[in-house]
Amino acid sequence: MTGTSTPPQPAYESFYRGTVPPPTLQDFGDGIFAYLHHDGSWGLNNCGFVASGGDVAAIDSTLTEQRTRVLVETIKSVTGANPRTLINTHHHSDHTFGNSQFAGATIIAHTRCRDAVIATGLAPVKTDPLVPWGDLRLAPPTLVFEDIIDLYVGETHAELIYLGPAHTDNDIVVWLPDRRILFAGDLLFNHATPIITDGSLSGAERSLERMAALNPEVVVPGHGIVAGPELIGEWESYFRFLRRLAADAVAAGLTPLATAREADLGEFGEWQHPERLVLNLHRAMAELTGTPPGYKLDNPHPFGEMLELSPSAYGHKIIEGSEHYQYDPPTGSEC
Ligand SMILES: [Zn+2]
Repeated sequence: MTGTSTPPQPAYESFYRGTVPPPTLQDFGDGIFAYLHHDGSWGLNNCGFVASGGDVAAIDSTLTEQRTRVLVETIKSVTGANPRTLINTHHHSDHTFGNSQFAGATIIAHTRCRDAVIATGLAPVKTDPLVPWGDLRLAPPTLVFEDIIDLYVGETHAELIYLGPAHTDNDIVVWLPDRRILFAGDLLFNHATPIITDGSLSGAERSLERMAALNPEVVVPGHGIVAGPELIGEWESYFRFLRRLAADAVAAGLTPLATAREADLGEFGEWQHPERLVLNLHRAMAELTGTPPGYKLDNPHPFGEMLELSPSAYGHKIIEGSEHYQYDPPTGSEC
């Protein structure tokens, strides 16, 4: 690839990242389940489903055909029914690429999620040819909304609330007020570094305030294991740190990459993917210097700088026993 705004292309062998255990199901009672892909690193998202009175709604699909097939089979075997509704918390590939396997389901999302699914298409497939994508077909959301809608799944009331721009410009959460359970999508991870390159720092801070105001007892993050509302406070601390670092860097005339190289992450250095700091600095520094939230950043390419900062940072792990890389790892790789 040529041009100054494209990321450096690492050798494919750096994308071999090893295997993770199969996904697990967490039962909250009343037909409410979280479906967790371990270990929550790139592409390994969490899903969920709600079943009541013979009706089933699922929350997010997955990155690959095989992963989504296992998810749909699990939902059918646990609930005895086909999901009639699929909710996409945002447009990213790990939450939407499996959409087409929810045959006949109404797919609900924010208006801009549908736009982004269509605009992005299946392009991410080309960036990592090792991933066992399977037979993916684009299936954009079919029912879209702007601010909030109420969804009734049998007896269970769910509020779908737009809280972006934050992680992207189309983030929604699924809030079950009667059980105080929050499916947060990628507005929260558990002990993994946030990503706001496609979204907004001020928007992410606002999304935390709004999630805190819901007063959840259980939080199902977009990646990582289920937790409580303490995740909100942890991300508030990270964004305070990020805002301060970005403001200092702007004042000193430093670049995001130079700032990330020198930054002392402290406790946040123990979270998964600390190198995402450079992605977040790009957004935070752009916003502090007047770039509107959600405005596309591509020069220089923040993702390329993340790979420069940590060449082995990116790549998709696959699920032990059910997935195989499309090519064999070269001898000496970390698999
Ligand atoms: Zn995402």
